[in-house]
Amino acid sequence: MNDRADIVIIGAGAVGTAIARELSKYQVRVVVVDKRDDVGGDASKSNSSIICSGFDCTPGTLESQLCVASRAMFDRTAEELDIPFRVCGAIMPAVTQEQMDILVQIYRDAFENHVYDVEYVSAGQILQMEPEVSPHVLGGLYIPRDAVIDPFLLVVAEAENASANGVEFLLDAAVTDIITENGRIHAVETTKGTIRTEYVINAAGLFCDEIARMAGEGGDFVVKPRKGQFFILDKNTVCKTSHIIYPIPTPETRGKLLLQTVHGNMLLGPTAEDLEDKEDHGVTGNELEGVERDCRRLVPNIQVKDAITQYCGLRPNRIPAGYHIGFGEKTKGYFGISGVRSTGVSTSLGIAKYVVRMFQDAGAVLERNYDFNPRRKGIERFSDASDERRAQLIAENPLYGRVVCRCETVTEAEILQAIHRPVGARTVDAVKRRVRAGTGRCQGGFCGPKVIEILARELNIPAAEIRKNLDGSYMLTGQIREEKRCGDA
Ligand SMILES: Cc1cc2nc3c(=O)[nH]c(=O)nc-3n(C[C@H](O)[C@H](O)[C@H](O)COP(=O)(O)OP(=O)(O)OC[C@H]3O[C@@H](n4cnc5c(N)ncnc54)[C@H](O)[C@@H]3O)c2cc1C
Repeated sequence: MNDRADIVIIGAGAVGTAIARELSKYQVRVVVVDKRDDVGGDASKSNSSIICSGFDCTPGTLESQLCVASRAMFDRTAEELDIPFRVCGAIMPAVTQEQMDILVQIYRDAFENHVYDVEYVSAGQILQMEPEVSPHVLGGLYIPRDAVIDPFLLVVAEAENASANGVEFLLDAAVTDIITENGRIHAVETTKGTIRTEYVINAAGLFCDEIARMAGEGGDFVVKPRKGQFFILDKNTVCKTSHIIYPIPTPETRGKLLLQTVHGNMLLGPTAEDLEDKEDHGVTGNELEGVERDCRRLVPNIQVKDAITQYCGLRPNRIPAGYHIGFGEKTKGYFGISGVRSTGVSTSLGIAKYVVRMFQDAGAVLERNYDFNPRRKGIERFSDASDERRAQLIAENPLYGRVVCRCETVTEAEILQAIHRPVGARTVDAVKRRVRAGTGRCQGGFCGPKVIEILARELNIPAAEIRKNLDGSYMLTGQIREEKRCGDA
């Protein structure tokens, strides 16, 4: 590890990696530190996966500005990073007259947010676009540029690209303290050593209040988790929608939506539960029943019995709320990002530009890196390839002929690439999120042991040391059968 950096970014979620990639366009030594074993963040890998046009932001806010600015950059960024991005559009159907009245304000807000392409649509038009929407629909809004992405692949791709352009990633390294001298940032202490630096960018999401305090900042806010629970349905479920289906929001919550992910699964949720415990990642039957009930009001035929998994994410809920992005007031060299509660993936590209601009405005001399290469090639998916292309792939690399995950048709060649790329996979979940081994109907029941075996072989460590994700989450806990040797009784 390099023990010196110009800038240390704390947090390798959507926000931290977008900033890292943006900074790699300049000649600065950047180190991204994360306590997790992988990039992808906390909230950034477990959210609704929507890249929002910004139509429903509160007009005049920094969030609105960054959402609209980011949306304009996403099509090109997804193309450069070779990641799936589906501009499916969204429908917000109203089923009562009261809801129809609320649409008027949302339409006005969209205009105030400079999202001019939102349109009113009649009940007939909605049912033509989405026949599965409730027959009780009275009318609604059509939001054509709302899109879906694989948020984890976005972060991985940004990290890989940033790494190829010179950014260093230090994972499994929790920041334990920030050392200041004479009111300036001096160093960042991590569980893997100390990094000397003059600048720290705090992109630690749910934990950014704790990092701020380490730097002698942030006495005026706290961050609490707001949990959101989801269902993921089997790809073969009969009732699917092609647009995002938004409920009418209430003052408390945006409500539970339905969408088809870029991988073809229906996603239902999320809930909005205010908690104290930042490590509460459990899913609960009661709340999930509420997801089913609310989603059925919008799409009555949705088949929750086809759920293959449930998961939850914790929104970093800043109190008091609102985007806060800027240099510290007390400690020179400290830069904080907080309040990106429910839109941080959508706004991440704009945040990255905004941060760099603030550094420049503060007098930082950032020389262009003319060698910056914006392109990154994704791992070619065998399951998406034509028969001719599959034959070609197998001829070039016979491991493409060895299917490890039967549900998603993931081959050993893809898993090897996931492990050996820059910022590569070290755990079972890291493999799963990069190439989808274990995301199908059996949820890794079949391919899990094989993935452990491949990880152990490729990383040259015993299988007993392979983890699911976090510290201590070992996949194997001991032997259940003694090996019998010749001559044993
Ligand atoms: C249920 C739900 C639905 C959502 N839906 C959407 C959506 O559809 N569209 C959208 O745009 N946004 C959505 N969001 C919001 C979005 O997910 C977040 O705003 C965004 O992911 C925040 O990104 P981040 O990089 O700031 O934080 P995170 O992804 O949380 O990353 C922070 C990182 O900091 C690291 N870290 C923390 N403390 C330390 C430490 N001491 N040392 C080292 N590393 C540390 C963590 O390990 C983590 O990797 C949703 C969120 C949730 C939970």
